[in-house]
Amino acid sequence: MKRVILLGSSGSIGESTCKVARALPEQMKIVGLGVAKSTDRLLEQAREFGVSALAVSDPQAAEKVKSALPKGAKLFSGGEGLTRMVEETEADMVLVAIVGTAGLAPALAALQSGKDLAVASKEILVLAGSAVMAEAKKRKKQVLPVDSEHNAIFQCLQGAHEKEVRKVILTASGGPFRQSSADAMQKVTVAQALKHPTWSMGKKITIDSATMFNKGLEMIEAHWLFGLPMRQVEVVVHPQSIVHSLVEFIDGSVLAQLSVTDMCFPIQYAVTYPQRWPSGLPPLDLAKLGTLTFEAPDEKRFPALRLAREAGEKGGTLPGVFNAANEVAVEAFLAERIPFPRIWGIVEEVMQKHSTHTSPSLNEIVQADDWARMTAKAELEKRK
Ligand code: MG
Repeated sequence: MKRVILLGSSGSIGESTCKVARALPEQMKIVGLGVAKSTDRLLEQAREFGVSALAVSDPQAAEKVKSALPKGAKLFSGGEGLTRMVEETEADMVLVAIVGTAGLAPALAALQSGKDLAVASKEILVLAGSAVMAEAKKRKKQVLPVDSEHNAIFQCLQGAHEKEVRKVILTASGGPFRQSSADAMQKVTVAQALKHPTWSMGKKITIDSATMFNKGLEMIEAHWLFGLPMRQVEVVVHPQSIVHSLVEFIDGSVLAQLSVTDMCFPIQYAVTYPQRWPSGLPPLDLAKLGTLTFEAPDEKRFPALRLAREAGEKGGTLPGVFNAANEVAVEAFLAERIPFPRIWGIVEEVMQKHSTHTSPSLNEIVQADDWARMTAKAELEKRK
């Protein structure tokens, strides 16, 4: 039985995690739930799973929920509430699925308080991969990837030695504009960008899939998670999203993990690792699928991959800057303030302006994140 603290329980990964918990009542018990503001959903989940440790990071939302708490429940409120809940609640694992930098401190606290860390928030490894992996090594705790690609690679690496890996290959659906010309991409609307061909996800990550920034962030995550230099992290476009990623070994053999597209697969593996348990999830019918296709990504139309490689190679504060500038640009695109290709234009400009701090503290990482947001906003104003 794994006792799991779930941070970001009202989001898309959070809801899928609840589904897995519902399906595996003998193997998994949710013992802590955290949200930013979605307190209605938090209370429903707390009642359903009988959870008594609850965290709400938005102080106003926390204040409002106080009177509605289930009997015996303890509320951890405010920005530090998530971290305190992680530290003070007995659990085996903390699954962090909060968007933004708010997941950083609780992720480190999970490892420091002797719990395994399941990572769904990209920011954790992109911003603080070095610190997180060092902490996990020091405490002899696992960092388990929930993202489908990294989870696939993690599965392929079972029983393998680091030295046997030649490279990892992340698959990318290519998003809705895989075959669009650079001209057509100038005119992309928000509605078009929000239509992902294979995965149904939150807005931010759906836009990131359309620009391939999502894959760029995943390249940096893979670099930290599997301790590989950026040149050993490759991307292949695979529109069907059935092969979730691959590992090429030094003898030339390639292992892949396949399943239908459902986040419950990687979540369940992260939770039950190192075991496998039966699931009610649909099996893969290869004969029915018939064809799986692969193609090289076009870095000219999708500069996010090139920018990610640069950020990952330089390291330090630059990956965080890459991430933060993208967040601001995506928001501006969603608000219909900038055309689609300006997203990577802004990111590149902010990266060029940044003087990278090569071995930053957590504080300096957060400062660089703030700086990148301000600088990206200034770029937006300039062009008005
Ligand atoms: Mg992914």
